[in-house]
Amino acid sequence: MAVIIDGKALAKKMQSAIAAEVAQLQAKYGRPPGLAVLMVGDNPASAAYVKNKETACLRAGITSFGKHFPASVTQSELEQVIDQLNADDRVDGILIQLPLPENLDAIALLNRLAPEKDADGLHPNNLGKLVRGEDGLRSCTPAGVMELLAEAKIDIAGKNAVVIGRSILVGKPVALMLLEKNATVTIVHSRTKNLAEITSKADILIAAIGRPEMITADMVKPDAVVIDVGINRVTDDAGKSRLVGDVDYAGVSAVASHITPVPGGVGPMTVTMLLHNTVCSYRRKFIQ
Ligand code: NDP
Repeated sequence: MAVIIDGKALAKKMQSAIAAEVAQLQAKYGRPPGLAVLMVGDNPASAAYVKNKETACLRAGITSFGKHFPASVTQSELEQVIDQLNADDRVDGILIQLPLPENLDAIALLNRLAPEKDADGLHPNNLGKLVRGEDGLRSCTPAGVMELLAEAKIDIAGKNAVVIGRSILVGKPVALMLLEKNATVTIVHSRTKNLAEITSKADILIAAIGRPEMITADMVKPDAVVIDVGINRVTDDAGKSRLVGDVDYAGVSAVASHITPVPGGVGPMTVTMLLHNTVCSYRRKFIQ
């Protein structure tokens, strides 16, 4: 059976270290780091993620400047809010909770963030720095995936890594981060032919698809390391709802060497890396 890479435990450890650092920084520089999470509408999954992020901020001593807007909010109202937060010295990080309602232009809003406050690393400056291998704010979920691999002491250099999914939020940045660590990276997506043939050659398999339990044991190389980014709510035959990943956990655990569970794998690391990025931005402001 695969070793479970426990994201919850790693998140707890990293969040206590962040809280200790925040207490020291506050004592030295006179104010806590601040994070603003912008949420629009009432998508229940987004609301739950935002609540987790705010609770984690509170625990770490980071001030939360969360703002929740009705679905009727306009592009220009959001632009004004972003401009105010960009100019607010108490705010070190800003995160726009995605997805936004379709009438809003998410890319234009991401582009408007001050790059040094772009807590999810999605501004073109930060994505550009990732492409160039420079220091910058890095997207939280992919950065969390890399922390999980490091914690489990997975050797990445020279390994075949296959990333399923090519979103800006997860697939593309995680592929670049694996490449930076010298993996041989393949990205596959909905138009890929012979998907299983490619996934079954992966030493490291990252699933970021949004399709419940799509990756089955026959698609996985024996002893592969499997990171399941997917979060999908499904309802079983008895009408009970639960969260599952993109990987068939029971089947794949029997062939993989390491696997992340859902929940308790990548999810808690996304929140942790958000706190980490906020503190990094704060430090850069005071310590250059
Ligand atoms: P997107 O919908 O933006 O991207 C999904 C990707 O999967 C696309 O590139 C798509 O291909 C590809 N895909 C879809 N169907 C197939 C298929 N049948 N075969 C191969 N590839 C396919 O999703 P995100 O990247 O934003 O999120 C992916 C998953 O990760 C979701 O379940 C999401 O909830 C979860 N997530 C979890 C986070 C966490 O903290 N754990 C944070 C963020 C996301 P194409 O480009 O061709 O359409």
